[in-house]
Amino acid sequence: MPNVVVVGAGVSGLTTALLLSRKPGYKVTIIAKHMPGDYDIEYTSPWAGANYLPMADEAGCKWEKNTWPVLDHLAKNVPEAGIHYQDTLVLNREKDADSPTGTWLSALTSENPWFKDDVHDFRVIPRDQVPPGADSATAFTSVCINTAVYLPWLVSQCLSNGTVLKRGILTHISDAADLHHTGKKADVIVNCTGLLASKLGGVMDPDMIPIRGQIVLVRNDPGVMLTISGTDDGDDELCYVMQRAAGGGTILGGTYKKWQSDSQPDPNQATRIMKRAVELCPALTGGKGIEALDVIRHGVGLRPFRTSGVRIEKEKIGATWVVHNYGHGGWGFQGSYGCSEGATELVEEVLTATTKSNL
Ligand code: FAD
Repeated sequence: MPNVVVVGAGVSGLTTALLLSRKPGYKVTIIAKHMPGDYDIEYTSPWAGANYLPMADEAGCKWEKNTWPVLDHLAKNVPEAGIHYQDTLVLNREKDADSPTGTWLSALTSENPWFKDDVHDFRVIPRDQVPPGADSATAFTSVCINTAVYLPWLVSQCLSNGTVLKRGILTHISDAADLHHTGKKADVIVNCTGLLASKLGGVMDPDMIPIRGQIVLVRNDPGVMLTISGTDDGDDELCYVMQRAAGGGTILGGTYKKWQSDSQPDPNQATRIMKRAVELCPALTGGKGIEALDVIRHGVGLRPFRTSGVRIEKEKIGATWVVHNYGHGGWGFQGSYGCSEGATELVEEVLTATTKSNL
């Protein structure tokens, strides 16, 4: 009867806990400083769009590739998860080819991407039909997740499998070993602490950096989910539009500012985001300006980026094995099931090895 403590209740912690809780005999406790329902600059998941627009190149695509079938299933069959299909348009400008955003989004903007047979109805838009402002474009059906519905849904799935959630702030990862709800020592700890992995004793990962993302949530209907390879407002500014499922409103983004962590929305930045969105997607305001946007709120989230790549690894810290699952940058939702499966396999490896060594 393995006892596992998962630290973190963002999309990474909740998804890993869910997969573990489905395994016969596993008893899972989640400990977190922040839980679904909270909005805090230290807690990234609620701020995400969140959509499935892959970013990894073919060599590194397994996490995102393995996540698509689950998101596809949830959008098709589980409406209460808060995920819906969206007609998607990805626009590319030749002038962004060597820019930071163009390079970052190059797998997505390719006309022959690795995911073309995974998402539905992938097609290259004929050049004479590419919208103004872009040089090439692809279209397909992807999904958009309403994080305000989906994160609580993950909690409900964990609870119905017997997982126990508790608030707690850890100063050292090893302290989690004493926090299992049975009162017994945890056999394994899973570390899903996102950006705070840089500050957690026993982990203190120097490779973790924030990438600031500012968004505007509006009531307007864009009719399509879209993104473009770059903007004319700077190398760290983005333009994307996505409507969340189940009345969640429409997210207008955004920014991709490395090392910046200011929690307050910048009003000038917000104006630029809204202007670009209305220009890219006139349907938002029926051809009117940004005054016709009906703003619900402005927001800022910090993408938990790891300069050396996502960390899905096992490590013995003190007396207890720890499995890490953090550092997903801007793709934590669209890689969530792939990464959590990877973490779950490592938990099983650790438990098998421990059982053998105890015989
Ligand atoms: P978090 O959500 O930050 O959760 C970390 C958890 O660990 C929290 O519960 C926290 O309280 C807990 N914790 C940390 N330290 C401690 C401690 N010491 N003690 C106890 N608990 C602790 N991704 C996509 O896939 N698609 C998108 O469209 C998308 N859009 C985005 C847009 C924006 C503006 C932003 C900011 C991000 C976006 N992302 C998107 C990225 C995605 O949001 C992140 O990759 C993901 O949310 C990271 O989740 P996480 O669970 O690893 O971290």
